[in-house]
Amino acid sequence: MRIVLLGAPGSGKGTQSKLLIEKYKIPQISTGDLLRAAVAAGSDLGRKAKAAMDAGQLVSDDVVLGMIQERLSKPDARAGFILDGFPRNIPQAQALDAMLARLSQPLQLALLVDVDTEVLMKRITGRRTCSNAACGAIYNIYFSAPKSQGKCDKCGSNLAHRSDDNENTVRSRLQVYEQQTAPLVSYYKAQGKLRTVRGTGSVNEIFKNVTDIIEVQMRPLAAAMSAAQAAAAKSAPPKPVKPAKKPAAAKPAAKPAAKPAAKKSAAKKPAAKKPAAKKPVPKKKPAPKPKKKAVKKAAPKKAKKPAKKRPAPKAKKKK
Ligand SMILES: [Zn+2]
Repeated sequence: MRIVLLGAPGSGKGTQSKLLIEKYKIPQISTGDLLRAAVAAGSDLGRKAKAAMDAGQLVSDDVVLGMIQERLSKPDARAGFILDGFPRNIPQAQALDAMLARLSQPLQLALLVDVDTEVLMKRITGRRTCSNAACGAIYNIYFSAPKSQGKCDKCGSNLAHRSDDNENTVRSRLQVYEQQTAPLVSYYKAQGKLRTVRGTGSVNEIFKNVTDIIEVQMRPLAAAMSAAQAAAAKSAPPKPVKPAKKPAAAKPAAKPAAKPAAKKSAAKKPAAKKPAAKKPVPKKKPAPKPKKKAVKKAAPKKAKKPAKKRPAPKAKKKK
């Protein structure tokens, strides 16, 4: 399964991604990790990325896409992948689609973990971490407050508040996310690939909803497709196999398998080229034989010619 994860900072999509990796045994592809690994390994793409970063520039989309493509060629990505942190804008999404199309591995799902902005604010600004590095317990003053304010329940150390977790910083981070992501949401919605899961409730509840989306919407679609392929193979010439693949990327309207199958085979029948070949070519050929003047009426006259030869001279003489 090939998934792009969309979600704001604090939406919990990272947690959901980890659970998906465990359940479906597919890798998460994070562009940040890929960049670090490529730079460390000193690959061609890594050197290009490093040159850009050293010059204080953004790493180009081409380099990032190249790294993603390399990553997809590894064996553990055969069953699919979860993309996190990429794409971040429409041109990247389009370039990604083009690259995946070349690999015949189109995205199947863009999963948006949706959380109200005010909840995100509380999740991030309310975060408190135990200052004792050996403990590292995490609290939230709104959702999971320590028993005594500012002190760790486990070790009694002071709780720390990250300076970049203050309200203004977080709000502008969320605004940037909103501006980047809204167009992507529309983009994938238009492709029929967007599914939204509410990111509130317990981690397990959210994950249940995530897997429901995958099981209910993606699996039956795959089943419908293979049923359609089987039906098409029976009812029509062997061509249908390839076209049947495209709907994988399309809307998971996943109703009963039989209906899509029927539609597809019905749609393919008219495409058969037989009628074109049947055009009445043979009828025209006999016509040209007669002499120039009598093209149209030739056929009947021809037959009569032998008979006409005798009377013809008589008629001329009478006139
Ligand atoms: Zn502690």
